[in-house]
Amino acid sequence: MTSLQEPAKHLKAKGMKPGGRRPAKELCSECGLCDTYYIHYVKEACAFLNQQIAELEAEAHGRRRNLDNWDDVYFGVHQDMMQAKKKQPIEGAQWTGIVSTIAIEMLNRGLVEGVVCVQNSKEDRFQPQPVIARTPEEILAAKVNKPTLSPNLSILEQIQQSNLKKLLVIGVGCQIQALRAVEKELGLEKLYVLGTPCVDNVTRAGLQKFLETTSKSPDTVVYYEFMQDFRVHFKHEDGSVETVPFFGLNTKELKNIFAPSCLSCFDYVNSLADLVVGYMGATFGWQWIVVRNETGQFMLDLVRDQLDTQPVIAQGNRKQAVQQSIPAYDKEVTLPMWAAKLMGVVIDKIGPRGLEYARFSIDSHFTRNYLYVKRNHPEKLDAHVPDFAKKIVEQYHLPNS
Ligand code: FAD
Ligand code: SF4
Repeated sequence: MTSLQEPAKHLKAKGMKPGGRRPAKELCSECGLCDTYYIHYVKEACAFLNQQIAELEAEAHGRRRNLDNWDDVYFGVHQDMMQAKKKQPIEGAQWTGIVSTIAIEMLNRGLVEGVVCVQNSKEDRFQPQPVIARTPEEILAAKVNKPTLSPNLSILEQIQQSNLKKLLVIGVGCQIQALRAVEKELGLEKLYVLGTPCVDNVTRAGLQKFLETTSKSPDTVVYYEFMQDFRVHFKHEDGSVETVPFFGLNTKELKNIFAPSCLSCFDYVNSLADLVVGYMGATFGWQWIVVRNETGQFMLDLVRDQLDTQPVIAQGNRKQAVQQSIPAYDKEVTLPMWAAKLMGVVIDKIGPRGLEYARFSIDSHFTRNYLYVKRNHPEKLDAHVPDFAKKIVEQYHLPNS
């Protein structure tokens, strides 16, 4: 890569047009980098062409994960973790709106001049529309997940064009990996990165299939989440909540909807963000906060007085459930709804909670994804799967082929 003193070679490159086949081919997660002249760096920067989480962790956080520490192995480099929720939740946010609140606070205090986030198109509440928000209203218009692949980095050229020097980027793991790889080329004085975990993302068409296969009223869904009570919660336009147990999902129909990028992703916990806000390491109703470095601590402190917090907990043992899920997924097992509901209730009572639930989710996805890469891209397996993920997968017995 160039240093800032050298002429920026990327300025001569040209972003690709929408719809063209990207360098990572079917593994492309449409992170948006290739829509811009930063495509110049794609071979090094793309999360699916050059997995380099450990090197980028050292640059962003001052150290790599300690592979002898299981909390580091699972949750990445961190200096603090907690459960939190807003004392006054933002209506219509994905959870309680901690992400939007931090972004608004940073803008209002003049710490940043813009916030990269993703709104939705006028026609479709789930069609992502990345923007650089310059007002609190524009940040609020980006609240709630767009549960589809989103080209957040497609706005990168606007940073230089608008002469922005202090920026907050909100994004998921694959977007943040590419962002960190080109960070030095953006001409910024300060970059803040606020991440969310991410898993099992889909194209817009895949989302439609998921909604139609799983919800009783796909057209009125405004929000959904795979919750810690082992049910998918769909919120509808009229405020009603529909729940469907995980174990009752139509695995056969749904197996092919997840994007190949997400089936080969091992950065569930957004390793390279300064601060991560999710839910899976928290108990029901709470959000999960992972502070990775001093910048993340600074960002969290800005909103601390607006939050209730409590320590993280871990209860139960996930191992057997994960081991059983491996052949069940392969055999496309779908339980009848009564059995799925019963199993959901039992697991909710005695199953993993808090950080153990997060480990359950990480283990189930990493074992599935490891098998996906091994079967579909064997030549990439060794370099693409990070060492921490290999260590997690090694705990389980996987089929040989
Ligand atoms: P809000 O204040 O509602 O803000 C949401 C922010 O997310 C907005 O700023 C918006 O710009 C951004 N955003 C929305 N959609 C996207 C997108 N597609 N790509 C990038 N940024 C986006 N947490 C877990 O613990 N486990 C999971 O398995 C998990 N899966 C997720 C999958 C996806 C696709 C996404 C986007 C998030 C996921 N999360 C997961 C994070 C979680 O659902 C919440 O987003 C997080 O807890 C923040 O909630 P909030 O109320 O503070 O956010
Ligand atoms: Fe380009 Fe991003 Fe797709 Fe990789 S994932 S090919 S960097 S758009």
